Amino acid sequence: MNGLSEANTIRRLVLTGLLVVGGSVIASVVCTQISFMDGSANPIFYRDAMFFAVLIPLLIAPVAYGYIAWLTWRLHHTYAELEVMAHTDALTGLPNRRAFVEDMEGRLRRVDENVVLVFAMVDLDHFKRINDSMGHATGDLALRHAAEVLRDSAPAGSVVARLGGEEFAVLLAQAPDNAGGTEPDTRLDVMRQRLADLPLIVPGGIVRMTASFGMAVPLPGEALDSLLRRADSALYRAKADGRNRVARAA
Ligand code: GH3
Ligand code: MG
Ligand code: MG
Repeated sequence: MNGLSEANTIRRLVLTGLLVVGGSVIASVVCTQISFMDGSANPIFYRDAMFFAVLIPLLIAPVAYGYIAWLTWRLHHTYAELEVMAHTDALTGLPNRRAFVEDMEGRLRRVDENVVLVFAMVDLDHFKRINDSMGHATGDLALRHAAEVLRDSAPAGSVVARLGGEEFAVLLAQAPDNAGGTEPDTRLDVMRQRLADLPLIVPGGIVRMTASFGMAVPLPGEALDSLLRRADSALYRAKADGRNRVARAA
């Protein structure tokens, strides 16, 4: 459902409301007028006219209000669909940049001492070569594949989103006392390795992919912009050092 049908639904809601009110008023006025014209001469007609003045709105109202209720339900349904669409990346089905930014901003604002956040920016290596050598459609398949591998290899409770192009974001949440647990660098490295190990088979051949990760742990009170910038610098370092690796921000 799109914005156009949403506008149509609103228009129909307004029109139906006007029809109910207008129709009822007109029916009442017409019947009352007729009864005044002929009422004195014919009391039975007067009674019938008054009867219809009440009956017609009573008949119209349930049907019209049922229709209004259905239109309203459809409108809610449309809003829910639009909400999901606005927060989902159409190609990969992952949360998109908007969803990720909203989620991150909320998490950074809420100071939760029981959770340590670890953020990583992920950029596929030499992705342009895949498009150039195998075509844009295969490039799209490769992006979907990368999204699937990253999502499936991410630790439980983490968020993987597509920020745009061939760039993804990963958010790990772990307990502050991670004694005995795996370090975030290692957990991200497992994702990186998994992507490198799982090629995509397409009719034209095999697509191998690697990715570079720039990791940053939010500082107390740090704004999202600053966190993204630090992760981006770490990513830049991972690329400069040879790609297919995880670099940690200072
Ligand atoms: P690097 O290792 O330095 O990141 O090299 P790269 O080739 O991955 O980086 P670059 O930014 O030069 O190229 C990114 C490419 O990703 C260019 C663009 O055409 C491609 N791309 C971005 N979005 C899409 C998409 O939705 N579908 C496809 N098929 N390609 C996309
Ligand atoms: Mg890029
Ligand atoms: Mg790239």
